Amino acid sequence: MYAKTAIILASFALSYALLVFVATAWWQALPLAFALGLSIVAIGFNVMHDANHEAYSDHRWLNRALGMTLDVVGGSSHFWRWKHNVFHHTFVNVVGYDTDINLVGLGRLTPHHRHAWFHRWQHFYVWFLYGAMVVKWHLYDDFRLALTGRMAQHSVPRPRGSQWAVFVGGKLVFLSLAFVIPLLLHPVWAVAAGYLVTTVIVGIVLAVVFQLAHCVEHADFPTELGAGRMATAWAVHQVETSVDFARDSRAACWLLGGLNFQIEHHLFPHICHVNYPAIAPLVERTCREFGVEYKHNKTFLSALRSHYDWLRAMGRAPVRSHPLAISAEGAAD
Ligand SMILES: [Zn+2]
Repeated sequence: MYAKTAIILASFALSYALLVFVATAWWQALPLAFALGLSIVAIGFNVMHDANHEAYSDHRWLNRALGMTLDVVGGSSHFWRWKHNVFHHTFVNVVGYDTDINLVGLGRLTPHHRHAWFHRWQHFYVWFLYGAMVVKWHLYDDFRLALTGRMAQHSVPRPRGSQWAVFVGGKLVFLSLAFVIPLLLHPVWAVAAGYLVTTVIVGIVLAVVFQLAHCVEHADFPTELGAGRMATAWAVHQVETSVDFARDSRAACWLLGGLNFQIEHHLFPHICHVNYPAIAPLVERTCREFGVEYKHNKTFLSALRSHYDWLRAMGRAPVRSHPLAISAEGAAD
């Protein structure tokens, strides 16, 4: 983990320095913005995710320090812990709680979202939406949360004491890195283009990898019974709403920070991701023993295909059956 962290943080620093201080032409800036975007995603997957789950280290201070890498790259670690650790992890794929499935009505990721006519093309446009969601996160969502303390219909505690220092300091560092320093050296259009290319790469890769585990054909989308109660036990809910992928790929395991082992991550979020390949067969065997279906896609591409097919299925208008209509299956019986 330490070597991996050093490699990822060094690639972030190097690609940022080359992009801002060295590149003088668009053909140099474009690949560097891609590299910067990918190194930011790698920080998210491999460093800050474990750290903010207290899974990086046994030392609390180290988890806190590395959790702040998220603030440096533009997201508030304070609000992310609420959004991800509390709402996403406790209520996976549940409308009204899990913000990962909320595309503010522009996309339909679950059968429980209202259908709109333009969703029929969502398998084409949702990728750009994923990119735009990070721009919104950087420049709007965290500030709105800090002012209102409201996340959908829930209230979240606003930062207190030192958390304010991390929130404000993080935003200042990020805005300086993304806008103030580049504007001292480059024209406004170039800074805007560099920010957008980098951020859209971050958004697409981040969202796709998270969606491949929960928004695919064989994942469940349960609804609450009311007052935050679910029909299934917590562990069963975690397994039924998650789908692993590319479990045998060493590259996926290294690059994706265990996000291809979401079943294991959701059952054991406090275990560092480097251990997931070893515990996956034990989890799979235990699921079989208890009659809980353990689902996985063999490769990254088959998971991507499954997400695409799911988007297409959710984009079609739901069939409203007439109470007196006899279904084809019913008639055959
Ligand atoms: Zn997590």
